[in-house]
Amino acid sequence: MSESSDRYAGLTFPFGLSRGVGEADGKAVKVAESIMGVRHSLPFALDHVNCWVLGEPGNQVLIDTGADTPNTRKLWQDNLPHSCSGSGAPRPAALLVTHFHPDHMGLAGWFAEQGVTLLGSAIETDFSRLLWNIEDQTYADFYAQWYASNGLPEATISAVRQNANTYKKLVHQPPEASSWSHLKEGETVNLGGHDYQVLVGRGHAPDMLMLYRESDHVLIAADQVLPSITPNVSVMPRIQDANPLLSFLDSLAKLRQLPEDTLVLPSHGAPFTGLWARLDALNHHHEQRLAEVLDACNEPRSAYELFGVLFRRELDAQQTSFALGESLAHLHYLEANGDLSRIERNGVASFVRA
Ligand SMILES: [Zn+2]
Repeated sequence: MSESSDRYAGLTFPFGLSRGVGEADGKAVKVAESIMGVRHSLPFALDHVNCWVLGEPGNQVLIDTGADTPNTRKLWQDNLPHSCSGSGAPRPAALLVTHFHPDHMGLAGWFAEQGVTLLGSAIETDFSRLLWNIEDQTYADFYAQWYASNGLPEATISAVRQNANTYKKLVHQPPEASSWSHLKEGETVNLGGHDYQVLVGRGHAPDMLMLYRESDHVLIAADQVLPSITPNVSVMPRIQDANPLLSFLDSLAKLRQLPEDTLVLPSHGAPFTGLWARLDALNHHHEQRLAEVLDACNEPRSAYELFGVLFRRELDAQQTSFALGESLAHLHYLEANGDLSRIERNGVASFVRA
């Protein structure tokens, strides 16, 4: 994910411009009727995630879990029964996970063991199980191969070869396929006593669930629209979508049909209104990046050689894989558009203006 230059233009933050929702980890704050926000810290550069609790104790639905860390487990144990109006049920009735990323479904298996009903996308939950079950060596080799074929330096490739299955580190054993009730785009579900329309965002994850409450224009946006960072849009190993940037921009276009006064509840950052302005800014960001990538490809360039164009800062190990995925996403978009052609130089995929 990257900072956008004109951040916050046209946005308002009804609960203040806090880092995430609320002021402290695990303390629930009301953000709309029957919706509480709960923030959890994360052990990587993106330092927190917002989860949501819909409904009242006795009939609560949790949206996303945070990563599987001792701190997150403890915060849920300590705070969940009191998260809405006073004490009540010992656990939520159901958990809905938006997508397979560790910060969103890290504790799905843990909640399942406590008898919580599970709701999610079939594509996302199947993918989580697939990824979690890959042997450490196979996982590392796959990344090393992906890095090598896209021109990353030898030192980065040998470093990634030492990695284990990094997905597994922050995710409790995922529940079996049969444990899930699957939600589909367009259906309406009653969660915690209110109706929500299921929307799907693509490009950041293959089939990420969002929820829209029409009665008062509330969007639980997962990672599709964030107030201050642009969601990572990546070509990733093992994910079938070869043109995720097109999928992402298509999903933004669909959200443009929601009312302008929609209250957006993002998974990272503070709740905001100004959906249309944010969608426009995200579109603009990618248009600019595409133009810069195309310019840089007057000479053949590998995805790695574009890091300097796309990311003007140091990248840590996790950010390197995001950066490669994001660089490829822009290259594939331009290739599919007929603007770039793919050539191979010494086993490295490169792209040049068509
Ligand atoms: Zn995500």
